[in-house]
Amino acid sequence: MPQSPAADVTALRLASVRIPGESALLDIQVLDGEVSRIGPAGQLPVVPGSREVDLDGRYVIPGLWDEHVHMTQWALGANRIDLSGAASAGEAADVVRSSIARLDDDGAGLTVVGVGFRDAGWADVPSLALLDGATRGLPVALLSHDLHCVWLNSAAASRYEVAVDPSGLLREDPAFHLTRELGKLPDAVVDAWVRESAQAAAARGIVGIVDFEMTWNRDVWRRRVAEGFDSFRVDAGVYPQDLDRAIGAGMRTGQPLDGGNGLVRVGPLKVLIDGSLNTRTAYCVDPYPHGGRGLLTVSEAELLELLGRARDSGFVPAVHAIGDGANEVALNAFAAAGIRGRIEHAQFVRRQDFARFGELGLTASVQPAHALDDRDAADSNWAGRTDRAFPLRSLLDAGAILALGSDAPVAALEPWTAMSAATTRTRQDGRGPWHPEQALTREEALTASTRGRGRIRVGNPADLAVLDGDPLAVPDAVFAAMPVAATLVAGRFTHGGH
Ligand SMILES: [Zn+2]
Repeated sequence: MPQSPAADVTALRLASVRIPGESALLDIQVLDGEVSRIGPAGQLPVVPGSREVDLDGRYVIPGLWDEHVHMTQWALGANRIDLSGAASAGEAADVVRSSIARLDDDGAGLTVVGVGFRDAGWADVPSLALLDGATRGLPVALLSHDLHCVWLNSAAASRYEVAVDPSGLLREDPAFHLTRELGKLPDAVVDAWVRESAQAAAARGIVGIVDFEMTWNRDVWRRRVAEGFDSFRVDAGVYPQDLDRAIGAGMRTGQPLDGGNGLVRVGPLKVLIDGSLNTRTAYCVDPYPHGGRGLLTVSEAELLELLGRARDSGFVPAVHAIGDGANEVALNAFAAAGIRGRIEHAQFVRRQDFARFGELGLTASVQPAHALDDRDAADSNWAGRTDRAFPLRSLLDAGAILALGSDAPVAALEPWTAMSAATTRTRQDGRGPWHPEQALTREEALTASTRGRGRIRVGNPADLAVLDGDPLAVPDAVFAAMPVAATLVAGRFTHGGH
């Protein structure tokens, strides 16, 4: 990308760009962080001191949002070794050995953590000696997929002062205890990992996230911004246990946070009312094949009371509801409270409830990749009813405002993976599409991944992503891994552009 020398970057011209689906070359002028003019290439009036970046016919779209992220968990996961593919204890040890070989400065004294091993099908067995032989004396702890078992080496056993037998394994309570210890990292370490993961997301076109990390997010993000975080915008969610504190501090959803450098705002009030599909705790109208209908963790009356407090204090509720029973309860409460808001996940919805999303003006915050991760679980647990599972098309057609996300770390903070899942209902893995009648068009998926209904408009913040192809025209495989040349937040390059 050739460019003229940059002076002060309050004025920026993006020259020779295209809008997806259109062929005309345009220039976009940015002034003080906002789109100030859009016009035919080479024909906008000169803005003195404006830096010009020639984008060479690339495609510009509004920057992408991930509407449901657990940012700290995502950053921690990105710094843990993935052992989910290990077919034996020996293979797991080999994965650890090669990961350690790639560590800078031996991991800066931190314990090396691996996750996701499944030893049930292994022909060999884990042992202290096997892991010691792969780890050069660095402390290493490996967590099983279900988190009920930790495999550690001698250095980790001595660091955490736990006694292990030659198997190197801890199970149940000692495993849970050690897992909690492993999560206690200095803020500076976690914040540095968050900066790296955020930068990687910016490189995929992300300009903002809604962070639902389960903590008092205000101070966490103030600290990160003070230390230089500037990769994207953050709407920092609040949980019910902190609602009084938030109200007392004068906070309300959408309010810019003091010390947030214009990037951080108070997010929605997150309320969980049921569990999940894979644990069969999503609250359903009909019983699971194994019995039970899942768990409603907050009663309808309690939910109504919370939504009333949210309404009276300016918080937008974001109600986690996965099962069709939970969605029914959430819709009832929104109707009774007379407040708009969001339902997070909306994975399974009664047929008669779709229209209520539109009538109540609700946002369905959905994670399209989960449909593909959980298609087998849905087929077995919601057999005969999956035509209303992960129902993106039904929600949109019923007037819901769709907002796409990942629920990272449950799925990757990767907007193109999410949009690809939404538009094809399959991965490029040979398995056919799952309920393709629930797919979105690419235009709809892009709109649901941006704020401002998917259009670049004069007067809006210059939150933009620059793509190497036309997202409405490239083949599915390219769309799923879309090359992103540059990303801007308020007219500032957060990726590319130099
Ligand atoms: Zn979540």
